[in-house]
Amino acid sequence: MKAGRAAAVPTNDKPSQHPHLSRLASDDLHISSFKNMMTQFDEAARRLNIDPRYVDLIKLPRRSVTVQLPVQMDNGTFKMFTGYRVQHSIMRGPAKGGIRYHPNVSLDEVQALAAWMTWKCAVVGIPFGGAKGGIVCDPEKMSRGELERLTRRYTADLMDEIGPEKDVPAPDVNTDAQTMAWIMDTYSMHVRHTVTSVVTGKPVELGGSCGRREATGRGVLFCVQEAAKHLKLPLRGARVAVQGFGNVGSVAADLLAKEGARIIAVTDMHGGAYNPDGLDMPKLLDYVKKSASKSVAKFPGSQSISNEELLKLGCDVLIPAALENQITEENAQLLRCKILAEGANGPTTPEADSILDKKGVFIVPDILCNAGGVTVSYFEWVQDRMGLFWEEEEVNGRLERIMRRSFADVLKISVEHKVNMRIAAFMLSIKRVWDAMVMRGIYA
Ligand code: NAD
Repeated sequence: MKAGRAAAVPTNDKPSQHPHLSRLASDDLHISSFKNMMTQFDEAARRLNIDPRYVDLIKLPRRSVTVQLPVQMDNGTFKMFTGYRVQHSIMRGPAKGGIRYHPNVSLDEVQALAAWMTWKCAVVGIPFGGAKGGIVCDPEKMSRGELERLTRRYTADLMDEIGPEKDVPAPDVNTDAQTMAWIMDTYSMHVRHTVTSVVTGKPVELGGSCGRREATGRGVLFCVQEAAKHLKLPLRGARVAVQGFGNVGSVAADLLAKEGARIIAVTDMHGGAYNPDGLDMPKLLDYVKKSASKSVAKFPGSQSISNEELLKLGCDVLIPAALENQITEENAQLLRCKILAEGANGPTTPEADSILDKKGVFIVPDILCNAGGVTVSYFEWVQDRMGLFWEEEEVNGRLERIMRRSFADVLKISVEHKVNMRIAAFMLSIKRVWDAMVMRGIYA
């Protein structure tokens, strides 16, 4: 059956909210991440002339699962945690996306992040759909044992949903290679044999890929280099500010510093460090590793700076690498960067986006800028399945080729259609998902 003649088109229901969640980051700010994602999607779909009657077929998440997880705490009591897994699309391959542990996780946020994964995988042309998971918890207040039991119970409850051919989780905020090792082990125990390819972002000793830990930050570096080249802005000596100093932010800052950029400010959830002459990155990384809170706050030789102040600093490159909805209509006018490289997912609201557009800020959108992580996750999945592992040099070389090519693909659409890079990236990815759907047909 042709796509255009499908009978059943899903209705555009609002994503439901979990009743227990009252402290959502997006709710606090009255911002729905899923609605933001839809706004961006709608504009690109309109420009592609996709028949609006069928847009929902690729826009809405195909499956959202909520699980209630009893976990034994160290004091012997049982506590219930809410977990989610959303598979937004499997049109181009198995669903793929990280798992987030955070007190503000909500179904709305997970649905938005899952959709972004669909567009992200399509923009870099890797054969995956999009998914995301999350558990409402505060990992800073939980012991390692509690986190392990929570992770294993979540995995056990999702046994029917995940799998190398179905849905492949990875790390996201507050989850890491250890979390993935627990998921891999729990899944393997249930199916009675070791299945390394059920997750990516694992330790290298357990089938992880060389270069995966640095992949997202490295992808940000390639995008910043391409954007700087396009704007004829020398990167050597360029002033860079980074919000969020975790996996993405710290690696991007470190690699940019190695390319001669000056990292003038970094922040995390505990505080920030500012030095207009540039922060000493090796010393800063060492300081964070050794500090009790693993924070950049109070880094010797720096002035303290808040997250809000960092966003308003005069700089050449601003890299939001923390959470969603940090750049809003309230602060967008005050940004003074030339390039905004979105290491985080959804850091800019649609209102802020149009303000920045008018100001002439060159935005490298999240679905392109931070796609390095899922690209090397794809390499990890490939290596696990063939049982043959590549040297880090090979991984980085393949990543570089994909990131630079994808940047060029998006820039070409941006120039040809006279649209900004975000709309161009959405146009490229939506077209790829749409084409896949038309070729597969609709099983209605
Ligand atoms: P992480 O947990 O390693 O680091 C998050 C950092 O953000 C920490 O430094 C934390 O202190 C800081 N932070 C949290 N809340 C903050 C706030 N309100 N203000 C300032 N800083 C704050 O997480 P990560 O893996 O680096 O992910 C960061 C972002 O990048 C997320 O949006 C994530 O979805 C996205 N992302 C991550 C990957 C990946 O491979 N890790 C890939 C693509 C996108």
